[in-house]
Amino acid sequence: MLRLPDDFQPALLPEHDPDAPIQWFVFAGGNLLVRSVGEGVELPLASIWPFAKLPTKRRLYLGALNGRPCHAAEVEAAAPPPGMRFESLRALWTRLDEKLLGVASHAAQLIEWDRSHQFCGCCGAPTERRADERARHCPACDAMVYPRLSPVVMVRVARDGEILLARAPRFPPGVYSVLAGFVEAGETLEQAIQREVLEEVNVRVRNLRYFASQSWPFPHSLMIAFTADYAGGELRADGREIVDAGWFAPADLPGLPSPMSMAWRLIQDFASRGG
Ligand SMILES: [Zn+2]
Repeated sequence: MLRLPDDFQPALLPEHDPDAPIQWFVFAGGNLLVRSVGEGVELPLASIWPFAKLPTKRRLYLGALNGRPCHAAEVEAAAPPPGMRFESLRALWTRLDEKLLGVASHAAQLIEWDRSHQFCGCCGAPTERRADERARHCPACDAMVYPRLSPVVMVRVARDGEILLARAPRFPPGVYSVLAGFVEAGETLEQAIQREVLEEVNVRVRNLRYFASQSWPFPHSLMIAFTADYAGGELRADGREIVDAGWFAPADLPGLPSPMSMAWRLIQDFASRGG
């Protein structure tokens, strides 16, 4: 599951022995620099910046993973060093150590936030990184910007031992998933679920229960998953965000989203309990 490891301590400034090896999270265009080792991959480890030929655009100290300092850097999109590759975080799922992938997800979001908030959204002046908190500050108008998170609700709706799965036009062929959508300003999570389900498939739900949450760094979502029971309405895809929807029994599930996703865990939890 994609999450910050429990033994990761976020921090703004390093507090370690300057000779200690650093775990480097190096990004170009959102992809992470890795070296293949057998079936898996590893990240660069060195006490000083090991890639003199890669021009850096920005660097951020992240914190320590089990006492080891972690630094993120964004570099110009250039040829990777010999034996290394830039790969997407999605492609690294199950190949990179789960804890490192969790920190990489954190790093990717902070690098992207830092990159896209170099100038103040209020007055256009250049912003500065704060030394005392994870924020950027505008010295001209005093505006502060913090790393952004976009909450997304997701719900597994059950009726008579079957669950509601639906297809968005962007899904690979044959793949269905639970319904999900961004929370609108002013809404509660519960309201967002009721609205999304009604808008997308014309169904009302009841008995909303929290299931779990997961970071989804594409680019900065927080997936918040619930289960619910069918309460009424005739199932009808809206034809725009959802092109097909149906009720599925555990033994008869269609193609599912990536096991990396919160949606997969929600559906797998249903399937493993036999409905
Ligand atoms: Zn400003």
